[in-house]
Amino acid sequence: MRSVDEHLADILATVRTLAPLELELERALGTTLAEDITSPVPLPPFDNSAMDGYAVRAADVETATEQDPVVLPVVDDVAAGDGAMYAVGPGMVARIMTGAPVPAGADAVVPVEWTDGGTASVTIRRPAPLGNAIRRSGEDVQAGDLVLPSGTMIGAAQLGIVAGVGRRRVLVRPRPRVVVLSTGAELVEPGLQLGAGQIWDSNSYTLTAAVRESGSDGYRAGVVADDAGQFLDQLDAQLLRADAVITSGGVSMGAYEPVKEALAPLGTVRFERVAMQPGMPQGFGVVGEDQVPIFALPGNPVSSYISFLLFVRPALRKMRGLPPEPGPTVTATTTAPIRSPQGKRSYLRAVLSGAVGGAATVTPVRGQGSHQLAALASANALVIVREHVTELPEGAIVEVIPL
Ligand code: AMP
Ligand code: MG
Repeated sequence: MRSVDEHLADILATVRTLAPLELELERALGTTLAEDITSPVPLPPFDNSAMDGYAVRAADVETATEQDPVVLPVVDDVAAGDGAMYAVGPGMVARIMTGAPVPAGADAVVPVEWTDGGTASVTIRRPAPLGNAIRRSGEDVQAGDLVLPSGTMIGAAQLGIVAGVGRRRVLVRPRPRVVVLSTGAELVEPGLQLGAGQIWDSNSYTLTAAVRESGSDGYRAGVVADDAGQFLDQLDAQLLRADAVITSGGVSMGAYEPVKEALAPLGTVRFERVAMQPGMPQGFGVVGEDQVPIFALPGNPVSSYISFLLFVRPALRKMRGLPPEPGPTVTATTTAPIRSPQGKRSYLRAVLSGAVGGAATVTPVRGQGSHQLAALASANALVIVREHVTELPEGAIVEVIPL
């Protein structure tokens, strides 16, 4: 049997980072920058008001108090977006709105709250220090500054600054398109009537959702019956649009294992036993002209989901141009004794609580079978038990993957 780490290392050595592609900004969320983003202009591009108020010469309002306010004529009205050239001379003010360019000569903005809000003349009751409520040009970004380095994942704020420096298109590593196929003669689409010996297909939903949660594009291609020929036909059709394929089921030791039967003869996909529980049978390799990576995961619902987290998720991160590290683990005290098979790494479904500040505790849920999907759905963490450990007492410190 191969170890979890060996299997993952093989996968990561095989999958390649996707080639860069220029995308419209609207489509770039969740992609990874493949170029440095610099700003062609300073940001803000011009000095502008941080508040609604009056652009003044600070010296003119130096003496203003509640008891002895300063009254000055309002000579202009400057709105945001107003491109005209304004100037404020000594003893004058301009009414100004947030985001409007500060007129020449003005060196402070008096917030409207410190005044009577007048439009012909204004009564100012407090002095404004030099530079008050003025956002200086270049305060955020200087012209030519690097705002985001290549390799950055584009979330909402990153997308914002790319737009904010005036870019309409951007060079990125795209989100991988991942096709998910369930196999099994017993599988029925949810919503349809169950016949004798049948169950509803859940894996294609779980895995497609897991792909999307992890930041790639998941396509649920549905169910294929246990027939190697039909499976290959479906796979062929799906390869056209896939950067990676995930299958579930049909990889174990029994008869009617269509994925194994179809892919093993190709010689590019290996099927092996990985020393883990759940999820021992695993297949991985490449298929088609473009050598598309294929993850042939076991059919048991808990096994396929945990296999996704351990093997597929890091691989998709590498394809996206991100560090393939698995998610962070935390330590917690188990509230119940734990058993685990010798020689296998176990991932127990558990509820993690109280992680913030105080000592976290973790409680394995009832139902650790690899078919017990409801138990998985009630868990928020996986307890990792290393290969050589077979028993842990209540109170032991354990390593936990928060879900
Ligand atoms: P297999 O790996 O095909 O031998 O399947 C192992 C177990 O997982 C069997 O009990 C299957 O019925 C179950 N199984 C396989 N595929 C799915 C699926 N897509 N949804 C739910 N259960 C499945
Ligand atoms: Mg099957």
